[in-house]
Amino acid sequence: MTSRKYFLTPGPSELYFTVPDHMQAAMRDGIGSISHRSSQFQEIFSHTVNQLKQLLNVPENFQIAFTGSATEVWQLLIQNCTASQTYHLVNGSFSSRFYEFSSQLGRNAIKHEVPFGEGFDINAVDVPEGTEMICVTQNETSSGVMLPVEDIYTLREKYPEMLISVDAVSSVPYLDIDFSKIDSLFFSVQKGMGLPAGLGVWIFNERCIERCKQLTDAGKVIGAYHNIPELVKNSEKSQTQATPNVIGIYILGKVAEDMLRKGLETIRQETAYKASTLYGLLENHPKFKPFVVNPAHRSKTVIVADLLEGLTSDKVINAMAEHGLEIGKGYGQHKATQVRIANFPTSSKEIIFKLADLLEKL
Ligand SMILES: *Cc1c(COP(=O)(O)O)cnc(C)c1O
Repeated sequence: MTSRKYFLTPGPSELYFTVPDHMQAAMRDGIGSISHRSSQFQEIFSHTVNQLKQLLNVPENFQIAFTGSATEVWQLLIQNCTASQTYHLVNGSFSSRFYEFSSQLGRNAIKHEVPFGEGFDINAVDVPEGTEMICVTQNETSSGVMLPVEDIYTLREKYPEMLISVDAVSSVPYLDIDFSKIDSLFFSVQKGMGLPAGLGVWIFNERCIERCKQLTDAGKVIGAYHNIPELVKNSEKSQTQATPNVIGIYILGKVAEDMLRKGLETIRQETAYKASTLYGLLENHPKFKPFVVNPAHRSKTVIVADLLEGLTSDKVINAMAEHGLEIGKGYGQHKATQVRIANFPTSSKEIIFKLADLLEKL
């Protein structure tokens, strides 16, 4: 019999260690069967929203809404907050897909692209006039490159009238960001939060709401299923438009509560410590090197290694799998020559040390 693997893959990933207990409680209490119009659901909804607001330090002028995925939020942002022009910092597969969505929806999508594995020189970013929204991917999960929050704040100072949208799918809850310097942030739950997939979280401020109102007043199409007015109207009642992923919303609130109890500062310190262990190993091992050259752009939550001396990802992945640890392949064309390791809150120092020991021996 093979024992269950421990998932250090960058999404879906290992579940937060308290999830099985919350899942059991949800089954015991019939959460999967309650009406989404019941007061019991409203309590779950508002509990989850309140815990998330505390966990992520979300100010009062932001709304939290639930969607099916982060991918859905790309579409919502473009349809609800723009009519003509978006600007995208592109350095990997996720940022590139967001950019493509905007073109597909008929916007003039403009990208500032740098090679896969590189970060941005923010002073070289020149956003053209007429841009309604600047879209940044704070942590590019495909390449392991992160965008420092200070660079996002620089964009805010330079372009105060443009909306700033932050894809933080693989950096929440590690990410420490000042919401007053952005307009929108979103994530899905199967990465850093350690939940089963099937739920997106979209956080947006009054500027997004106002922008959406201008668009509807001008007769623009904003979509019928999930749009800002419907999300806001329903959120105010602690409800959702359609029957949602009630179990997901319930567990998200519980996990956020668990993380708050542990303390986000502790989680951040542990994440940084585990990341430095892994990067240290990659820098000193003859068969590995960190893919991201500039240490200032290296993600703390998704660590990507280049494989040297003919080592292939299959070989590394299989060697780890023998010890029950599942790590990810490189993305796209880097499938065979890179591995990606999730360094999310649920993975303890012990697990990361075990992985580092095993990699060391290769
Ligand atoms: C995983 C991921 C997404 C897409 O998330 P879904 O939940 O699959 O919609 C978007 N952006 C980034 C940076 C991601 O890592």
